[in-house]
Amino acid sequence: MGARLRLLAHVAAHIPALMPGSATEPIDEPASAARKSAKAADAKPSTAAARLAKLGLRRSVDLVLHLPLRYEDETTLEPIRDAIHRAGIGLPAQIEGEVISNEVTFRPRRQLVVKVADETGELTLRFLNFYGGQTKQMAEGTRLRVRGEIRGGFFGAEMVHPTVRAVTPGEPLPDRLTPVYPATAGISQAYLRKAIGGAMQRTPMPETLPQAVLRGPLAQLKLPPLIDCLRLLHNPPQQESEAALADRSHPAWVRIKFDELLAQQISLRRSQAARKEKNAPSMPRRAGGLLTSFLGALPFRLTGAQQRVVEEIAADMARPHPMHRLLQGDVGSGKTIVAALAACQAIDAGYQAALMAPTEILAEQHFRKLSAWLEPLGVPVVWLAGSLKAKEKREAVARAESGEAKLVIGTHALIQDTVRFARLGLAVVDEQHRFGVAQRLALRGKAGEADQPGEPARPAEEKVVPHQLMMSATPIPRTLAMTYYADLDVSVIDELPPGRTPIVTRLVNDARRDEVIERVHHAAAEGRQVYWVCPLIEESEALQLQTAVETYETLVAALPDLRVGLVHGRLPPAEKAAVMDDFTANRLQVLVATTVIEVGVDVPNASLMVIEHAERFGLAQLHQLRGRVGRGSAESVCLLMYQAPLSPTARERLATMRETTDGFEIARRDLQIRGPGEFLGARQSGEAMLRFADLETDAWLVDYAQEAAELMLERYPEAVEAHLSRWLGGREHFLKA
Ligand code: ADP
Ligand code: MG
Repeated sequence: MGARLRLLAHVAAHIPALMPGSATEPIDEPASAARKSAKAADAKPSTAAARLAKLGLRRSVDLVLHLPLRYEDETTLEPIRDAIHRAGIGLPAQIEGEVISNEVTFRPRRQLVVKVADETGELTLRFLNFYGGQTKQMAEGTRLRVRGEIRGGFFGAEMVHPTVRAVTPGEPLPDRLTPVYPATAGISQAYLRKAIGGAMQRTPMPETLPQAVLRGPLAQLKLPPLIDCLRLLHNPPQQESEAALADRSHPAWVRIKFDELLAQQISLRRSQAARKEKNAPSMPRRAGGLLTSFLGALPFRLTGAQQRVVEEIAADMARPHPMHRLLQGDVGSGKTIVAALAACQAIDAGYQAALMAPTEILAEQHFRKLSAWLEPLGVPVVWLAGSLKAKEKREAVARAESGEAKLVIGTHALIQDTVRFARLGLAVVDEQHRFGVAQRLALRGKAGEADQPGEPARPAEEKVVPHQLMMSATPIPRTLAMTYYADLDVSVIDELPPGRTPIVTRLVNDARRDEVIERVHHAAAEGRQVYWVCPLIEESEALQLQTAVETYETLVAALPDLRVGLVHGRLPPAEKAAVMDDFTANRLQVLVATTVIEVGVDVPNASLMVIEHAERFGLAQLHQLRGRVGRGSAESVCLLMYQAPLSPTARERLATMRETTDGFEIARRDLQIRGPGEFLGARQSGEAMLRFADLETDAWLVDYAQEAAELMLERYPEAVEAHLSRWLGGREHFLKA
């Protein structure tokens, strides 16, 4: 297999969409009874399987574990009069009555209007879309069971598009709550219910937790048998506590959530163990090498925290197994230099290092800084970005491939499939939360494992993976780190370089823009530099650009004696670089910018940050933006301009920004405001492994899951296999990123 193909295969192995179904037992079509209803539900067998697959339902056991979102209570009937009486409170009603009229009217548009009556009253059913069969199904005199929401229409109480079913008088009501499942377009609830019911019947679900574990460390939890929980959750008796089912505190839900967390914990521990089995180049520190001369040439001393993390990283890199370390440090804490030192260690050992950053501005800044530091020491540093001309790019790629380039710095361009390294020993990903799982994995896949042209293919056991260092200023709160990143060692820089003065943050109503402009003027007069960040307009990049240009023009007009620059994502790279250069060199005093400057940009003389429409930004983003100032010794100010009225969450976000500059505290509050799903979602798309457990409310279960995971791995390997295959199917790879 060519190197390129090999890389693709490597990536594919980590992306579920590219993998053939990893089903061990494929889903059969639901039994023939279900097939009839499948037809009614317009789901042809093959497309139905495809749609189920979209929901992640490939195997029978996946169906069994597809649990209801909520329930509908169809176990009782209400007299029509009572149902109408409480109409408008948004709760569905179920009534039964006889059709007393049925007509198609044409005003205001074609619709079917059916009236039903019981002993207590009459109700109108209105269908705006209907087909011929429905008219017959609801012919006069038919007895209908009707479920829907009643609202007060122009002609009295009515239900629009209720669910109806013809019944014979006295037909028994269900004695169970009706489950409502997570679904997708083209899959009806009826179809899902049949498919899941069928799967429940044909799929044995033996207990995967050994009795010794259930009775040992988990005794306190009193977990009920899994099969009972599944039966109950798919089909709860009417008398079951609806509240406990709804808020998932019911013991059956606890069992499900526990099993899910357990699968995750086992899987994390296994991938950790697997990583320890892999080979990586051992690159111990060498006295008198590049590292030493680099440290000697540094214009400042490392902080204590920097020294500590440098040691942690150095020790990892000396081991013959791949490092998998996350370096967390608040904005401005000096992570770049730590990465540079790690790169020196790799280069000293005869390997190459790569540094990938999420934006071209940031990558370029890294390139300039690091080449200024390293080129004088004789280290060839190469720049690789999408904007390079084809010829330059070919040259850069050739230098990485020949091994001549010792450090390669760039954007996503680094992971394009034309890029290969001769001897990649260290892969650094800056602002790792901005990359997707696949991208991070791809950089790791660039190790010297690709066969070199003219060389025979190397046997698998000789293949090495590079050490990996990920950096982020967005701290992951402990509970999340524990459950999502157990296979990640974490180093923390918890100290800022000396001489920084804290940033003062103020909230300013948009109406006071003139005062803000005056403030900018004043700061510039004192020799300071200013960032002015334009509003984020998520819906339209074009609009965002337009606003940036307008803001720029307004400021140029309002501040005729100042030099104002503009930088945004659409600027050609050369111009972008020129503007950033001018700002860095203090030839521009005010830089109007879109969020392209969000991460990494480092201009210590800038000490005033204005963020317009701050209410539109998320907390992490505001914190990053604010971190562009407060990097020098001058007192820095951040003005958050907002437009009233503020939504409650926007108010909370802005208050948080005013109250603290501590990134960890901000992340904690962010998690509180948004909840873990969204918190992770934005950062780690694709990594949401938990469907049922909620890391906030179920954090107490995690400790038990960890304990059980360890015990099972140690003593019950078969139970481990059974449990993982049941819960994770083919999704384990996500945990390795
Ligand atoms: P971040 O952690 O946000 O990536 P940077 O690596 O960009 O931070 O560092 C911020 C600034 O602090 C840079 O100008 C860097 O040169 C400087 N810096 C880093 N470490 C120290 C130190 N120990 N003493 C003084 N300045 C430092
Ligand atoms: Mg940085």
